[in-house]
This record gives sequence, structure tokens and C-alpha cells, in this order.
Amino acid sequence: MIRAVVALGANLGDTAATFAEAVSELRDLPLTTDVVCSEPIESVAITLDGPDPSAPGYLNAVALLTTRLAPSVLLDALNDIESRHGRVRAERWGSRTLDLDLIAYGEVASDDPRLTLPHPRAHERDFVLGPWASVDPRARLAGHGRVADLVERLREAAR
Ligand code: AMP
Repeated sequence: MIRAVVALGANLGDTAATFAEAVSELRDLPLTTDVVCSEPIESVAITLDGPDPSAPGYLNAVALLTTRLAPSVLLDALNDIESRHGRVRAERWGSRTLDLDLIAYGEVASDDPRLTLPHPRAHERDFVLGPWASVDPRARLAGHGRVADLVERLREAAR
């Protein structure tokens, strides 16, 4: 059994309702138990050119789950959930009805571009680290240390 960490993001449509449905679909995954989702937070959209306060804001949350699905199977399942919520990959880092990223899969490290673990940008994303620390105050991000410490450092740097 592996502890996996999934980040949810959405900035189009009824984002809160989409999250509730996505969490229920995570609970329905085979070989998967103990799905716990953080409270959602709001964040400014980040585009390829940086933060864009004129774009619709994001709702973000982090879900923890215990699973025996292989990482690639879990990622396929996350992509299926995204597709069911009408995500269209028109534009990289564009607006989306639902984005699900696999942030960590136990301690597994991989630099495969199809599935990089831990997620290569997780350590610099307040909107991932904050909700993650809120559901698992003792969480660690492989190669970066305690998630709660990373959040603290990011917030200090932003001051
Ligand atoms: P995005 O459209 O930004 O969600 O990126 C999706 C692409 O990133 C897909 O081609 C995935 O195969 C790839 N990818 C690589 N690592 C990860 C990860 N840890 N979680 C989700 N997608 C990933």
C-alpha cells in the first residue's frame, strides 16, 4: 500500500462542485482507500508568463490516498477523471475545468517526462504545499524536506 498525493486545481465552471465530484471519483477508484481531501483554497492563475490576476482565479486542494494502483495506472485514472470533467488541453497552462497532478507516490522518484515524481514544480507551489501540510502536518517531499517548512520558507520569501 502506497500513500499518494494528488493536487486538484480548477478555474472554470462550478469549481467547488467539480472538486466534490472528483474526490468522490477518487474514492471509487479500485484498490484505493482512505481518501482525505484538504479544504480548498483560492489562488491567482499562473500562466507561462507568470501570475495573471486578470484570468479566472483557481480553486486548489490536495487529496491523500492509499493505493495499490501502479503510478502509471493511477495517472491514467486521474486523466480519465479530468476528461470526464471536460478538460480540453488546448493550451499549456491554460484555464481548465479540472487539473489533477500526481504530486508524490510514496518515496518513488522518476524523471520520466510522462510521469515525473515527485511532481517537478510541487516544491515551489504554495497552493500545493499549503493544502498538503494542512491534511498531513508531518508530510515530507522527497529531496526537499518537510512540507510545512517549505510553506514557511515560501511565505517568508513572498513577504
Ligand atoms: P498538464 O497538462 O500541465 O497537467 O501536464 C500533463 C502532462 O504532464 C502529461 O503529459 C503527463 O504525462 C505529464 N506529467 C509528468 N509528470 C506528471 C505528474 N507528476 N503529474 C501529472 N502529470 C504529469
